[in-house]
Amino acid sequence: SDTLSEEVLTDDVRLEASLRPRTFDEYVGQGAVVEKLKVYVQASARRGDALDHCLFSGPPGLGKTSLAHIIASELGVGIHVTSGPALERKGDLAGLLTNLNERDVLFIDEIHRLNAAVEEYLYPAMEDFRLDITIDTGPAARAMKIDLPPFTLIGATTRTGLLTSPLRDRFQIQERLEYYEPKYLEMIINRSGKILGVPLDRDASKEISTRSRGTPRIANRLLRRLRDFAQVEGEGHVTLELARSSLDRLGVDASGLDSMDRKILLTIIDKFGGGPVGVETIAASVGEQRDTIEDVYEPYLLQEGFLQRTPRGRMATHRAYGYFKKAPPPASPQ
Ligand code: ADP
Repeated sequence: SDTLSEEVLTDDVRLEASLRPRTFDEYVGQGAVVEKLKVYVQASARRGDALDHCLFSGPPGLGKTSLAHIIASELGVGIHVTSGPALERKGDLAGLLTNLNERDVLFIDEIHRLNAAVEEYLYPAMEDFRLDITIDTGPAARAMKIDLPPFTLIGATTRTGLLTSPLRDRFQIQERLEYYEPKYLEMIINRSGKILGVPLDRDASKEISTRSRGTPRIANRLLRRLRDFAQVEGEGHVTLELARSSLDRLGVDASGLDSMDRKILLTIIDKFGGGPVGVETIAASVGEQRDTIEDVYEPYLLQEGFLQRTPRGRMATHRAYGYFKKAPPPASPQ
């Protein structure tokens, strides 16, 4: 039985693992990407080759890591997981690469954060399955080449534009994940509800789906909080009414915007007359990292038409003004 006291710290990690789709069939949405990947996986398996290197991009929580695990499992190979910031020295990468089995997947999350030395070391490994190492230093230094088994590198990044072009060019397969439509999030929420044992009314899962910022990870997080509210206030059952009141209390409004979304928009509107204003200035005003603004918040606000990007900076749209029930200045974009 899981009591509230057990539910701290490691819980999000455990939850995420338990809800992660295991096969292409369990992976909801992203149809065009999944169809292509299925073909590539089958073809490489038939040839007995390693799958070409894959780069997945998109905002956090859209399923890049899940896809990497699914690909490895469908290929019937092992997966080794690391991240850009974790690979501090060439030796860290060499250790991983020399431990790979033939056709294994090496998954590097946040691959745009690799440092330059490690990144250059990766090029011949990706291209020729070879490591160039130098033994000793000074006059005794010798260059050696180590052959690696053919493997598949899967990189994940929020934006491909953050990668250097030599690194980006070495990925033969590049796919961008998009925000999920509510109908797909609804399927994910229903599946998660079953796994977590939270009975959900149909209109309740629909409500959560429209308030999850198009992001499966957020949908699952909200569901988990709703489970708490349902256990305490609703006999374990999530009704539409309970979903609405809980989501309101969690600061997620009916448009799916969270408090940072609103803070960003209000800052542009109230402090900068609706813009244009540079992203650096916005970041400083709201007290958030520039990268986080660009990779997490902006893409959704842009897609939903609350924000527009212009050469001189970001501008709040009519929709943004309407959302706060404010009158837009004449220059604000539709
Ligand atoms: P990313 O690597 O892009 O940050 P993850 O792969 O870690 O995202 O996904 C976060 C969570 O969202 C997963 O644990 C999983 O529960 C859920 N999820 C993501 N994509 C899907 C999907 N297509 N179908 C079902 N669940 C998904």
